[in-house]
Amino acid sequence: MADGLSARDIFVRHGLIAEGDAGTPCDSVRDLGGLFVIPGLIDAHVHLCLNPAVRDPLAQSLPEDAILLGEMRERALAMLRAGITSARDLGGGAHLELRIRDEIREGLLPGPRLLCAGQPVTSPGGHCHFWGGEAASVEEALSVVERQRSHGVDLIKIMATGGNITPGSKPVDSQFDDETLQQVVSRAGQYSYHVAAHCHGTHGIRQATLAGVQTIEHCSWVGENGWGRGFDPSVVAQMSSRNLWVSPTINSGWRRFQDEAFVEMVRGNYDRMKAAGIRLIASTDAGIPNIYHDDLPRALPEFARFAGLSPVEVLKTATSECAEAIGLGKIAGRIKAGYSADFVAYDRNPLADLGVLENPVMVVARGEEIAL
Ligand SMILES: [Zn+2]
Repeated sequence: MADGLSARDIFVRHGLIAEGDAGTPCDSVRDLGGLFVIPGLIDAHVHLCLNPAVRDPLAQSLPEDAILLGEMRERALAMLRAGITSARDLGGGAHLELRIRDEIREGLLPGPRLLCAGQPVTSPGGHCHFWGGEAASVEEALSVVERQRSHGVDLIKIMATGGNITPGSKPVDSQFDDETLQQVVSRAGQYSYHVAAHCHGTHGIRQATLAGVQTIEHCSWVGENGWGRGFDPSVVAQMSSRNLWVSPTINSGWRRFQDEAFVEMVRGNYDRMKAAGIRLIASTDAGIPNIYHDDLPRALPEFARFAGLSPVEVLKTATSECAEAIGLGKIAGRIKAGYSADFVAYDRNPLADLGVLENPVMVVARGEEIAL
């Protein structure tokens, strides 16, 4: 199939998948016999600047830029070695991830293709305010967008609700009024930027949906009665009538949730979203405490468990469908002529056991084989 396992020969020329047959001349030949090949994995939500070993988010910005850049380069390489060949960086404070993006793009550094949001728009004292994107009015929010543009971002991130890692910020609470969200999406659209909205609470999910964002991050349905318990079919109906995607950031940390009643409740929410036609993409929020940047292969079995996805469905959320959602649908996410030569090989079939994803035997990114 074009976006899943491939048993065909794969021809690579100038970093792209090429049309070819057995007689096509090649620079180098690798025997993929007996291996299972999928498109390179894509993580829709990471933070390269965050150190997952650090528990206090306020301590995160402490290293000197030069030290932090070194750590970020190591994280980018770790992602690539895990088979992650593209990712969206959804926020940092110093725009260092844009330098990493450019070094990778220029071939100076091995790493995934990155799309970067820079400083997320947030409310004064709001979620991740320490990254510098605070805005107390529509005008200030638009000036945060303009500042990200001047730094050369690829998309805009807005914190529609509070979050977990910022003291004083509550996931259930909305951070902005409808007008601010709409103006930010409108301004971003003028520059052809997608908007990714961090949304835990149900009210914020509704606001971001009506404002027209492209991706809802987390989508936790936090209500007055707790996590997942604010599920609202009327919001789902609004979401399904728009062309948005949900990026749930279900990562390997979700292994800790073994209580069957909780799992059933969350899966029920996903079943109802899927029945309404809501499209899901894989994401990990890598960089938050204990979630390392190469988490995605470990995260996908958890995503499948909570969202009720078959192995082929969950692989699509991390390849072809993720590429489409984040604006890379014409260049990445498929093993198809004209697409970037990004693929991963395994010695066992990941469709039979998603655990196989943790042990790639070959990673190729933009036509270059990565030393594992
Ligand atoms: Zn995040």
